[in-house]
Amino acid sequence: MVYYPVKAEDVNEEAILAEVGKGWSYLIRIFLGLVKEHGLLICQVKGKFGGLRLYYMYDKPCTTEDAEIIEEIIHSLEIVSAYTCENCGAPGEAREHNQTLCDTCDKEKK
Ligand SMILES: [Zn+2]
Repeated sequence: MVYYPVKAEDVNEEAILAEVGKGWSYLIRIFLGLVKEHGLLICQVKGKFGGLRLYYMYDKPCTTEDAEIIEEIIHSLEIVSAYTCENCGAPGEAREHNQTLCDTCDKEKK
């Protein structure tokens, strides 16, 4: 269980990884790297409609330029998640029950 919002220095990476598919763990690690580098507050991390949703806010002042770059990177991670198997990290696509899976994991679930 993760209690939000959480500061960069208090992030429990394993607890966050336990709440989303392990196939997305490298995307979460990139997100947490950004959070730590820029001192962001994590508001929530979850899977929704087969993709990651990464909510954050600023804990200290930040230039518009930096904010735009951070927003673009985080949005890219959300887009990539919609094409990444949430179970194993292989290329995947939207399947039943709002899951994003590769062909192999999709067959195993049936
Ligand atoms: Zn898979």
